Amino acid sequence: MSRKRRSASAAVEARVETMLGHVKAGARQRPGVYRMISPDGEILYVGKAKNLRTRLLGYFRADFPAEKSARIIREAGEVMWDYHPSEFAALIEELRLIKKFRPRLNVMMKRDARHFAFIRITPGPAPKFMVVRGAGNDEHGTYFGPFHGAWQLEEALRELNDVLGLRDCRIDLPMHFADQVELPVAPARTPGCIRFEIGKCLGPCVAGVSQRQYRARFKVAREYLEGRHDAPVETLRSAMEKSSERLEFERAAQIRDKMLRLESLREQFERLRFAVESLSFVYTVLGHGGEDRAYVIRRGRIRAELPAPQTAEERAALAVCAAEVFAPAELKSATVPAHEVDELMLLSSWFRKFPAELERAVPAAEFPRARTA
Ligand code: SF4
Repeated sequence: MSRKRRSASAAVEARVETMLGHVKAGARQRPGVYRMISPDGEILYVGKAKNLRTRLLGYFRADFPAEKSARIIREAGEVMWDYHPSEFAALIEELRLIKKFRPRLNVMMKRDARHFAFIRITPGPAPKFMVVRGAGNDEHGTYFGPFHGAWQLEEALRELNDVLGLRDCRIDLPMHFADQVELPVAPARTPGCIRFEIGKCLGPCVAGVSQRQYRARFKVAREYLEGRHDAPVETLRSAMEKSSERLEFERAAQIRDKMLRLESLREQFERLRFAVESLSFVYTVLGHGGEDRAYVIRRGRIRAELPAPQTAEERAALAVCAAEVFAPAELKSATVPAHEVDELMLLSSWFRKFPAELERAVPAAEFPRARTA
């Protein structure tokens, strides 16, 4: 080993020793969130622990240099932490800090969200559906999800796009609508796109449709997914029946398969809506040293957080707060704003992992003036 490498390695070891001393001297056995900071002040990694001391000491026992914890500790120059009343509170804070700072090693090591697929609605004059892995960082996008099975999702969306004539091409492709009067030169009549040639896309890129007409079709697609419109399946059903009448049984069977894919997509949306709606309640979490907290959760997102009430007055205050959260009507939908997807997934996985926790949840409907949708 060269002298330069030896001295770099000695510097790392010295930093690790200092951090270990700091943890041994100060970290307590209670829930909390920790930050690993690089020698030049970058927040490298944020983590949470039910028992902070145990978790932090574990970093210094990593046996193999390739282990995640060994890698984090080698890059860090300082470890800082804050205590929180419960593991749940620490989990929520961890998520908030990760979203705020996007620490490099969290981003690199995070895999969970990528296992799920989402349907993203792109912004712009001719929106389209896109299947994406993870909810991404698009704070303005609208997402449906999470779903398992990106491939099946893509297949089903292809049917939906085809039956309604929606585009599925590059997001940045310029659009030329039929009602776009300011076009300097009329766009080419054919975009060289097979979907347009065979009538599977309305052709918003070649003035095949006005913007209003395209958006109306897109609205039908959204409403179908929301369970409020049946046109796509009805169109296919009628085509299937006509094929059967003409004794084109092979064609009829193909259309039936398309219908089944579309119906299965809608069933997934219904299940998702139900899952989102069922995450609406007031959840009391027992905290360290009696620091109990009450979380008002609606549609999988924490809308308010208060100390758990101990007196009649505090109970009344919580009831008022909960009623304010639950009372405004919200569309029952599988749509999740991009910036809330992570919290929805976190809460959903928390209650799947600890179903007994739901015993301390009081349903939204039990609060005076509360409505659940
Ligand atoms: S016709 Fe134009 S808008 Fe439609 S899919 Fe093809 S390229 Fe995209």
